[in-house]
Amino acid sequence: MGESPGIMSDSPSDNPPTPPRQPPSPDEISRKLEDFIKNSLGGQVVFSRFEPHNLASQPPEPESDDSAPEPEKIGAAFDFRHRPADIKAHLDRYVIRQDEAKKVLATAVCDHYNHARMLRENDTDKASPALEFTKQNVLISGPTGVGKTYLVKHIADLIGVPFVKADATKFSETGYVGADVDDLVRDLVAKAGGNIELAEHGIIYLDEIDKLATGGEGRIGRDVSGRGVQTALLKLMEETEVPLYAQNDFRSQMKMMFDMRQGRNAGRETINTRNILFIVSGAFSGIEKIIEKRQAKATIGFGAALAEKPSTEDLLRQATTRDFIDYGFEAEFIGRLPVRVFCDPLDAGDLFQIMKNSEGSLIRQYEREFHAYGVQAVFEDEALRLVAERAVEEKTGARGLVTAWEKVLRDFKFELPSLGLPGLRIDADLITRPKAALDNCRSEAEKMQTDVRADEVRAFAARFAEQTGYHLEFEPAAVAALVQRARREGSAVEPMCARLFKDFPFGLQLVSRSTGRVKFMLDRSAVDAPDKYLSDLIVQSYRQPEAPQNEP
Ligand code: ADP
Repeated sequence: MGESPGIMSDSPSDNPPTPPRQPPSPDEISRKLEDFIKNSLGGQVVFSRFEPHNLASQPPEPESDDSAPEPEKIGAAFDFRHRPADIKAHLDRYVIRQDEAKKVLATAVCDHYNHARMLRENDTDKASPALEFTKQNVLISGPTGVGKTYLVKHIADLIGVPFVKADATKFSETGYVGADVDDLVRDLVAKAGGNIELAEHGIIYLDEIDKLATGGEGRIGRDVSGRGVQTALLKLMEETEVPLYAQNDFRSQMKMMFDMRQGRNAGRETINTRNILFIVSGAFSGIEKIIEKRQAKATIGFGAALAEKPSTEDLLRQATTRDFIDYGFEAEFIGRLPVRVFCDPLDAGDLFQIMKNSEGSLIRQYEREFHAYGVQAVFEDEALRLVAERAVEEKTGARGLVTAWEKVLRDFKFELPSLGLPGLRIDADLITRPKAALDNCRSEAEKMQTDVRADEVRAFAARFAEQTGYHLEFEPAAVAALVQRARREGSAVEPMCARLFKDFPFGLQLVSRSTGRVKFMLDRSAVDAPDKYLSDLIVQSYRQPEAPQNEP
């Protein structure tokens, strides 16, 4: 690509013999580079759009109008006008239960984005004493599959900020072995379509944070890098400037070159993390023992032995900073996560509610999937209850629903699209005996197809009568034989009949001439050997001419 002067040479005067030409517009360069890089790197490069303020130091480019940024996106982050109750109401539509988490998250999010808005309205990017604020990063504890991610995703969708989720376990301290925590911030930029300012107001959600605990009381202990990752994350959670382009990543460097050529990154080479909201979560299994021990110590001599043993959930709700430190977290790290909330485990009743009432219900998804094949699936409550009970046994929260349904519906999802049935009733019987229910579907479909084909046989006879004046009637056994034959041959009934009985118009004419008959009742032998049947009929009619009759 070095030989393309429009791209690589800054000054056309470097090459005097080259005739003067119009320099390509940034958009042209962008398109060419995009094509080139996509072709050579398989389209994995994210091409971001950058903001006009980034170009402040650049002379205005008349051709760059097309690549103008999307200012409304910036507005979305700053014109934050939600109230906690509105956010909770939105979450209620999708997330069943977890009321405490909904309230806590809604409030933390409002505090966080109101503060960011105030900073902007006050036109200050430094926290002035009047606007001092403790960042409301959130720690959610609770079992898997109970809606932690789902809550955060819906909040981000509602308020229109980019959202990035990752498992804390995939990071390493240096970024050389595992992923680099800074990538999270860069991912936000990609999610924000290159809008750095919007990315700076995004949400980073880290699951399995408990796996970063090192050698604490409750754990065997991860290697030292757990602590290193905590430190790296701590920096992000406080405030730091993350390079827009990863130093050790070729694609990132290519992108930097590309953006520099476009003058896009002028003035902005980093992303500030001050206004990024961090939400972390984990199951923290084992921490309940630490809490219990602490509580036992505190209540020695106060009749603790008599007190009822609290449940794991109750204990987790009472986790303090000290407990998290004892569990294996750095005090500074856990201190940066001041908002803490516990998400409840889900029982069968909750899972039933999720299927029945959540707007994101899996059931709606199944209905849509069947509908795509013209099958109207109807799920009965009794079936939902049975599946909810099975899903609870999976011990993976609402994720268990997918597993439980998948087992039941697997064969239906495979076969129903080809059976041509208009509907499927998913009732308790289907859940308890899916094989028998599928057999029923198959025979129902067969019967339906038989009926359709039998109608086609009658339609053939009607057209035959219209065209020839001779009325064919097929005995039930003959109809069944035709239907069977059509299915066996995989052909439509009417053209098959036309083929089988192609000599009948002429043959029946002969019969009719000598007998006067215009109606013929055909039995199974007429289907099995039509030519023999017809010639027998003709021979018979010549042998014993009958009196004209209209009935066989
Ligand atoms: P985790 O708590 O492990 O982050 P998720 O939030 O990813 O679990 O839940 C997995 C899926 O299960 C979600 O995408 C959602 O469809 C469903 N789900 C989980 N909890 C709930 C809930 N409380 N209400 C409605 N759906 C839920």
